Amino acid sequence: RAKRDGGGVARRFDPVLFAKAEQRRLAEQDLMRGLEAGEFEVHYQPIVDLDNGGITVGVEALVRWRHPEKGLVPPALFLDLAEQLGQVPRLGGWVLEEACRQALAWQDRHPGFEMNVNLSASQLTNPKLIDEVREVLERTGLPPQDLVLELTESVALTDLVESARVLSQLKELGVRIALDDFGTGFSSLSHLSTLPVDVVKIDRSFVQAMPETGGASVAEAVLHIARTFNLSPVAEGVEDAGQAERLKDLGAGRAQGYHFARPMPAIGVTELLDKQSAEVKLEL
Ligand code: C2E
Ligand code: MG
Ligand code: MG
Ligand code: MG
Repeated sequence: RAKRDGGGVARRFDPVLFAKAEQRRLAEQDLMRGLEAGEFEVHYQPIVDLDNGGITVGVEALVRWRHPEKGLVPPALFLDLAEQLGQVPRLGGWVLEEACRQALAWQDRHPGFEMNVNLSASQLTNPKLIDEVREVLERTGLPPQDLVLELTESVALTDLVESARVLSQLKELGVRIALDDFGTGFSSLSHLSTLPVDVVKIDRSFVQAMPETGGASVAEAVLHIARTFNLSPVAEGVEDAGQAERLKDLGAGRAQGYHFARPMPAIGVTELLDKQSAEVKLEL
């Protein structure tokens, strides 16, 4: 048939394109099915206080897909598709509520325990976001100051003026804002004076590029910037004791990474906190 149309290349059956389109259709179907079936879970990665013996002071909520055949699927493998299907506001809303409930449960024995939740661009531009966050805080009873909403620079950058407006409204609710993967975006510095931000998360690429001994590093420069703008720094992706020690000496304050703990289901954090309290009691 394609031939009779004049041999137009675009019309000829292309098995590779066809296979790709088919794969994509199946992936979409699978994701919609997974959302319908409630196959998503929130895992939590501890955030530690470097100045206080490395105790866990909060966690970051990280979504995962418990796929019936593929097992635990990381967000890098489904978030883009979910975004294209317009499902991230819904999935993100569920993560937010789940995380706030869990934070309140931990606060029972650990007052002030903090919850960090990631927001995507489509959530930030969703006009319902402010009401949604307010309602989740009301429903769960989590003190707003213990919720930190994380945004990447690229998210905040899409429309700087609009982002600043939405972030101000969020801050009026009492929640705090973190700039995630800080330093990896464009013209990061100008954002710090435009956006109402409280926390900067130093991207793990800078943490991992720190020299073993002495020498200046981007991580150190970012920490200077954080201090200048009165922002609380959190170092991401700390993978070994040397990095932890250097960051502590540089005054990073807080850190997160495989060296301390990997993301884990809620029960793992509960056990970690129980163990931590038992150790504190022994020291007293
Ligand atoms: P992120 O917000 O920068 O989260 C940190 C990522 O680094 C997590 O990957 C975490 O598992 C990983 N990580 C933590 N410590 C280390 C370390 O020491 N070394 C290395 N190599 N990696 C470490 P994960 O869970 O795969 O999440 C990837 C990204 O997906 C997140 O990056 C975030 O941007 C996004 N994401 C995750 N959950 C959500 C969510 O609920 N909503 C939205 N909108 N985005 C999410
Ligand atoms: Mg994050
Ligand atoms: Mg990050
Ligand atoms: Mg990161």
